[in-house]
Amino acid sequence: MFSRRKAETFHLTAAGLDAPVLVRRNPRARRLSLSVNEARRGAVLTVPRYTSLEEAGSFLAKHFEWLQKRLAALPRPMPFAHGSVVPLRGRDHALQFTPNAKKRGVVWTEDESPGKKTSLPLIYVAGAEEHAPRRLKDWLKRQAREDLSGRCAVHAARLGVTPKRVTIRDQSTRWGSCSANGVLSFSWRLILAPAQVLDYLAAHEVAHLREMNHGASFWAIVRETCATMDEAKAWIKKNGAELHRYGASDC
Ligand SMILES: [Zn+2]
Repeated sequence: MFSRRKAETFHLTAAGLDAPVLVRRNPRARRLSLSVNEARRGAVLTVPRYTSLEEAGSFLAKHFEWLQKRLAALPRPMPFAHGSVVPLRGRDHALQFTPNAKKRGVVWTEDESPGKKTSLPLIYVAGAEEHAPRRLKDWLKRQAREDLSGRCAVHAARLGVTPKRVTIRDQSTRWGSCSANGVLSFSWRLILAPAQVLDYLAAHEVAHLREMNHGASFWAIVRETCATMDEAKAWIKKNGAELHRYGASDC
């Protein structure tokens, strides 16, 4: 039942639960706690240092129904597939996998035009269909990198700072982060959000190069370079979890 991964974490497959449970022993935890990781569609059971696994097991059993309900309420995953709809910079696009197109291995977009089958703009992915989800994800990551690098440069110039590097990651728990040595990292999924949301995240992480905390002066710096901060934060709070649906089961 327990498969050991790292010294302090276990993956648990619980009968009757259609999701993995990550059991994490945390010496700093004061009590047992259970949470749901939306991006990974799984549960996390945190166990304090001196709590036995038996105790942890009965804690899990006690909250099993709650956990099942929470997992069932998660947004359904939306794999990248021919015909499915994916937002790009906040605008819905229909996916068109075109295995027979001459432009092999290429991804491109086309605006909607009257008379077409779909009224949505399209994202074409050429080449073998089995590689299309991976190719699309790589392309979305490149788009994210371009947009985020551009916006970070704008905010950095305004705030008089220089990021060491801008990296795009598949991080599931954070939209962005700023390391102590000035490397800014972002989730590729920000390319799915409206442009002003991506812009706010860029401003937020660049502002950390001046203030490595979330105090009042930090927020004043973000607002100085990103006037639409409040709207963007509200958008993320309302819609952020939804962005984790896309491409979830593919790559
Ligand atoms: Zn922050």
